[in-house]
Amino acid sequence: MQTAHTKQKAYRRTERARDFLVLVVSASTLLGLLVLSGALGFFEGLTAVIVLCLGALAYFVGSAPPDMRDSPLALESNGEDTLKSSVRSLIHALPFPACYISDEGRIDSANQRITELFRIKQTEGALKSVIIRQPDVLAATDRVARTGASERVEFMAVDGDELWLAHLTAGPEPESVFIVFEDRTAVHRAERARADFLANASHELRTPLTALAGFIETMRGPARDDRESWDGFLEIMHKQTDRMRHLVSDLLSLSRIEFSEHRAPDTVIALGDVLSQTVIALQPLAAEKSIQLSVSGLSTDVSVTAKWDEIAQVVQNLVGNALKYSPKGGRVTVTMGTSPSMTDAAILATSQNREAVRSVLLQPRASAEAAAAWISVSDSGPGIARQHLSRLGERFYRVDESRGGDIEGTGLGLAIVKHIMARHRGGLAVASKEKEGASFGVWLPRHEAGVAAPARS
Ligand code: ADP
Repeated sequence: MQTAHTKQKAYRRTERARDFLVLVVSASTLLGLLVLSGALGFFEGLTAVIVLCLGALAYFVGSAPPDMRDSPLALESNGEDTLKSSVRSLIHALPFPACYISDEGRIDSANQRITELFRIKQTEGALKSVIIRQPDVLAATDRVARTGASERVEFMAVDGDELWLAHLTAGPEPESVFIVFEDRTAVHRAERARADFLANASHELRTPLTALAGFIETMRGPARDDRESWDGFLEIMHKQTDRMRHLVSDLLSLSRIEFSEHRAPDTVIALGDVLSQTVIALQPLAAEKSIQLSVSGLSTDVSVTAKWDEIAQVVQNLVGNALKYSPKGGRVTVTMGTSPSMTDAAILATSQNREAVRSVLLQPRASAEAAAAWISVSDSGPGIARQHLSRLGERFYRVDESRGGDIEGTGLGLAIVKHIMARHRGGLAVASKEKEGASFGVWLPRHEAGVAAPARS
């Protein structure tokens, strides 16, 4: 298949050959007539024909001398070169990697982002295979140069860490190719995270379901008449359905919060009120394990722009974990405070044990200078080993799984806290020393006094 450029080039060549013939034939006829009429001598006529032929030949080879064609002046006067210089300017102005490959297979022009993508210093003038070391992209470049049909090629770059998409289009010159590279890494990671999430969620749901199905089979088959063992089976079945209920409710919370994460809350609430009411509701759970659950620093005049239910869920998840992972007779302390800046709040929220290792699980989006309110939940439980700290808040990440504990959980509680705090432009951090307990801290910007409260959502 011939490209538009190849056809154009062939057409121009035929046109010039025709001009050349017309010029030579008409000049020779004219000079012949002059010689015949005696106006010119034979040798003078012959010399004139030779000079004319040479002139016409120069015209055929190129309309201007080579040095003249390469000069910037000639670039301006030639439409094709003006187009080429526009392509060069465009490439340098583009905010993503782009290059233009000439018909000789060399990089005619490339922008700074190309050097970063392919980790090379010099691009212009180099052979395309030296710069673009991606076999699939190189093969596509050849095809586009040949056929003129645009193509898109995906490839992994930067040691397989990044996914890029090359968009190849025929350039303005014959057999030239224009390539723009699009970074698809974020989209690729999000797709992988979604696939992992679905796989994990299905796995977590299948485990209790398989157990339930197994017990039903046993009760209908071998243990049909063994009514005494039924109580034990029913107890386990009850636990498994409970586990499924928790999982489904956590999954629903997570998807609801993710859905609204980019919409900032617009209600002003008193942080102390949410805190005290949620902690009161958790007292019976603490009493069941003889854990002393106390609140300090409670203040009712600290306002935050927040969603009541979501902040209540943050407190419930953090205090719930502290109660769950602390041994019987332990201590859980919930502290509330304010600070002149978000930076200070981040430290205050996890400063209970000076020897603890600290990890920030969510950096706040709010300005570091904004006045802040913070909540800290500390326990006297087993604590969390240093290597796990930074991974807390990942969906389905459970420390107990690796230490073989039998405490029930979904591994979604902290992920929910993290998403809620992200929606509130706040932060989340953990500090822990093994065997001495753990502290989880959240902080968010305070609602400025004097600013009208937005309408309730
Ligand atoms: P889970 O449903 O498993 O509790 P979370 O997301 O709430 O899920 O917590 C993730 C993991 O972090 C837990 O499995 C647990 O290993 C660890 N963890 C959370 N809070 C505490 C705590 N207060 N003390 C010790 N370990 C904790």
